[in-house]
Amino acid sequence: PAQARIIDGKAAAAELRAGIGREVAAIKAAKGLVPGLHVVLVGDDPASRVYVASKEKLAAEIGMNSVAHRLPAETTEAELLAKIAALNADDAVDGILVQLPLPKHIDTGRIIDAIDPAKDVDGLHPINAGLLAGGKNGLVPCTPLGCMLLLKQTLPSLSGLDAVVVGRSELVGRPVAQLLLQADCTVTIAHSRTRNLAEVVRRADIVVAAVGRPLMIKGDWLKPGATVIDVGINRMPDGKLAGDVDFAEAATVAGAITPVPGGVGPMTIACLLRNTLTAFHARRGK
Ligand code: NDP
Repeated sequence: PAQARIIDGKAAAAELRAGIGREVAAIKAAKGLVPGLHVVLVGDDPASRVYVASKEKLAAEIGMNSVAHRLPAETTEAELLAKIAALNADDAVDGILVQLPLPKHIDTGRIIDAIDPAKDVDGLHPINAGLLAGGKNGLVPCTPLGCMLLLKQTLPSLSGLDAVVVGRSELVGRPVAQLLLQADCTVTIAHSRTRNLAEVVRRADIVVAAVGRPLMIKGDWLKPGATVIDVGINRMPDGKLAGDVDFAEAATVAGAITPVPGGVGPMTIACLLRNTLTAFHARRGK
């Protein structure tokens, strides 16, 4: 059977980072300024530690001023709010990212609300979410932005295509649906209460899967030739990672598909760096 084109997110992310690196170098040469990304980690969750280290390393690699603030698990909400207030007030700080999840004694919403929306490189502040819902982009969440860049490099035009997003989280499903709508797709958002999900997915020229259930979307759920973006990252019993889409089946039906790992994942951090540069330009790059 025909094999889908594999969308190489690792290569796309490397190219995106290289371009951002060139821009950072040009800014430094022209203005003597260095965009700064500050990541705040509270506690010692092992997965979060790995994510923060990787964000810190990749930001430094492209020449940004990359700072990780590692705070103890006992940090109080008031102490974290004071940290954010200090970063908000510091003109050399362009991007602030608070690594989630936070310890249970801290109210995540209250922390995100405290970040200056102009420095909110995760795009999760209600002001940025509201701008996106109104079709006016502020800072856009990184994973949805990465999905769109992969779609735009894969398809000649998105206009008029039927897109089905499976999942409606604040972090992925909702914002990616908004971006698809902005790109003139006809958008359906499916979720756990959707009836006849397979039939809904079968209408799609573009499928974005952001569910968190390994291999849920089967090959015969897809319209032949569809473009499939698999956001899911699921750890299997054998230790390997799998997406929300049954890749082996889907690759025989789809026109193009992202692998897991090596698809959307690498784009997420690259888009965080992109957002930091966007925030820099909006605040002090003029
Ligand atoms: P959430 O758990 O917040 O949201 C999952 C969504 O899937 C919900 O809207 C839920 O519906 C829906 N859902 C659950 N079960 C079903 C079902 N049986 N049929 C249809 N819809 C269903 O997850 P996230 O959006 O945060 O993440 C989704 C996946 O993406 C995870 O695997 C996560 O690890 C991965 N991820 C990957 C990133 C990357 O960089 N590649 C970044 C962020 C996430 P309802 O709202 O009705 O409950």
